Amino acid sequence: MSLFTAVEMAPRDPILGLNEQFNADTNPNKVNLGVGVYFDDNGKLPLLACVQAVEKQMTDAPKPRGYLPIDGVAAYDSAVKGLVFGADSEPVTSGRAVTVQGIGGTGGLKIGADFLKKLNPTAKVLISDPSWENHRALFQNAGFEVDSYAYYDAAKRGVNFEGMLASLNAAAAGTIVVLHACCHNPTGYDITAAEWDQVVAVVKARNLTPFLDMAYQGFGYGIKEDGAVIGKFVAAGLSFLVSTSFSKSFSLYGERVGALSVLCESKEEAGRVLSQLKICIRTNYSNPQIHGATVVATVLNTPELRAQWESELGEMRVRIKAMRQKLVDGLKAAGVQQDMSFITSQIGMFSYSGLSKDQMVRLRNEFGVYGTDTGRMCVAALNSKNIDYVCASIAKV
Ligand code: PLP
Repeated sequence: MSLFTAVEMAPRDPILGLNEQFNADTNPNKVNLGVGVYFDDNGKLPLLACVQAVEKQMTDAPKPRGYLPIDGVAAYDSAVKGLVFGADSEPVTSGRAVTVQGIGGTGGLKIGADFLKKLNPTAKVLISDPSWENHRALFQNAGFEVDSYAYYDAAKRGVNFEGMLASLNAAAAGTIVVLHACCHNPTGYDITAAEWDQVVAVVKARNLTPFLDMAYQGFGYGIKEDGAVIGKFVAAGLSFLVSTSFSKSFSLYGERVGALSVLCESKEEAGRVLSQLKICIRTNYSNPQIHGATVVATVLNTPELRAQWESELGEMRVRIKAMRQKLVDGLKAAGVQQDMSFITSQIGMFSYSGLSKDQMVRLRNEFGVYGTDTGRMCVAALNSKNIDYVCASIAKV
């Protein structure tokens, strides 16, 4: 009998487990469309030129590494706040928005969850059905009961918007609603601007607590365009939370660069909120890392580098869109009878392909094409070399 005899083996993470299986696969044609990572047309993880430029500056003028303040790199926090709300926007100039550095977008979500749990311990959390794998467990681990609101309609190949509104209308006041600000993961289906207006109206009327997860700003239509939804919540006079991730938009996955922003009613209130966010951070990991946040802050705060970033991000966005079209055309050419054009109406890095679990398992086992059992494929991992093979494999299943 050891101290840990009673410890049970936890299930493997569905996505990371798929990665392990992919790495062990000896099929020379294997393609990994499982994990949400952007690869360039050569199948390589990009290291952006704007990032390299800053890292060169950093090695040319090396700096000592003292502790950061609890809320992170000040220049980073203010740059992220500007990106989320608009640099000259009222929430920023009035001082009623606060932004703290987080350990990736996940860290931003977790700080927000811990803060909300202390604020309203009995609130429930609603996430979309389906949602990013980690949302449910993250909020459960923060102590919340997590339920879902209707979102995906498989038969319609789109959003069950009526169902979504009905779920939100039925939620108790104070319910925390986790909304994907853009590029919904895993379905690839976003609601329209007019539908967002209706969601904002229900959130306001029902007194719900909106928590916007923005992990893909710039991957949909552009940085400003994707951020427009934030402006709708601001215009409605709501207080809300936003988590930001730069994992994908800066291709800085392993540096864990993210943030949490909270829009408060006044500057004075923002000061109190910030003091509580700092306690959440301090008691979890004390203070964040220097490197990634310094890179992102320098890019965002240097006009030439920022322009370079926007252009590099634009290239990623355009390439994903081109791959969506190639996928649709390639499937048709490979003999798929069904109309697959819905793939081009999806947005962001993922496509809910509509393939069944059996088909996804066959794709993996017989062809070495890896997506999740739910039929989700990462379109951002397709390239001019693997697309024909992927289309032919899908046609065969
Ligand atoms: N939220 C959503 C919707 C995501 O898809 C992801 C990453 O896949 C995250 C949050 C987490 O981002 P990060 O890797 O920066 O923690």
